Amino acid sequence: METKILQTTENDIKEAGRIIRNGGLVAFPTETVYGLGASAFDPRAAKKIYAAKGRPSDNPLIVHVCSETQLSEVVGEIPDTAAKVIDAFMPGPVTIILKKKTVIPDEVTAGLDTVAIRFPLDKTAQALIREAGVPVAAPSANISGKPSPTKSKHVIKDMFGRIDAIIDGGDCAVGVESTIIDFTGDKPLILRPGGITYDDILNIGAEVDIDSNILQLIDTDKTPKCPGMKYKHYAPDAEVTVVEGEKKAVQNKIKELLTENKNVMAGVLTMNGADYDNAVILHAGSTNKEYARNLFSALREFDELGVKIVFAEFCEQDAYGLAVKNRLYKAAAQRVIHV
Ligand code: AMP
Ligand code: MG
Repeated sequence: METKILQTTENDIKEAGRIIRNGGLVAFPTETVYGLGASAFDPRAAKKIYAAKGRPSDNPLIVHVCSETQLSEVVGEIPDTAAKVIDAFMPGPVTIILKKKTVIPDEVTAGLDTVAIRFPLDKTAQALIREAGVPVAAPSANISGKPSPTKSKHVIKDMFGRIDAIIDGGDCAVGVESTIIDFTGDKPLILRPGGITYDDILNIGAEVDIDSNILQLIDTDKTPKCPGMKYKHYAPDAEVTVVEGEKKAVQNKIKELLTENKNVMAGVLTMNGADYDNAVILHAGSTNKEYARNLFSALREFDELGVKIVFAEFCEQDAYGLAVKNRLYKAAAQRVIHV
């Protein structure tokens, strides 16, 4: 398939909107990561998303809207706490799960009677949804299992030749996916940590719990509430190990590991900029917010540089740290050393 590379001009966004309206696939920037969009009203288009990504068919898609009115057209009743979250954080990096209306086909929600909804803040994403004239179902625009794309070159690498068009909209500001909150149970539950933190949600007076699976070993026998959580995720070709603890102890442990592995091309993802020898060093940034922005891109860069094993520093658990740690643990397939 011929993939068009489009820019963020009015004309190009109009063309992208037309492609989506006609059942095609367009990758587009959002403030979190790049999405791979199709009409959320079109079951055949939704199926094309699964094929292009190699995504398991039981992993539902997030439906993107460009207004609260459009949101209310696809969901059932909106509970009070969900309304608070909508008021405070939409548009923004948060996804809410509510009962779905029948306009959303089963192919989008993988047969669930609930739907995940997001109203992105990114202007290009909003313009695209407006031009499409329909809500846009979109998972991250990567091959399933690979790190999510935060730059257009990541999307081009994974999706060129598989989809109709890619909008080149520069780098994503947040860098990790949206916070997913499920409002269909007894109490709101964070299923995935992301751009809006647990503290942010408490601060608006909304009561919410955090799903205990977020940092747990993935147990494939149990049915997780968020189907995507049971799959291997964010994994570069290199083998990643997280080294977690107090800064000096983390550095010493990684130095020891580099010595043990001196015959392998190793990389270190550092927060502190320690002087490691015999390793490709990439800086994740000094705060977890920066770490979130750079994490996926760094994982892809290690692969490009031919690195075989990566040691990732993780030192500080602030409000944003949970989102970073969740992605790191998954990228490392739970290889975590506590020091
Ligand atoms: P992605 O868009 O690739 O970041 O993945 C979307 C995530 O949202 C996956 O982990 C899905 O399992 C989850 N998700 C989407 N719809 C639902 C839903 N109705 N209920 C629970 N989780 C959902
Ligand atoms: Mg994804």
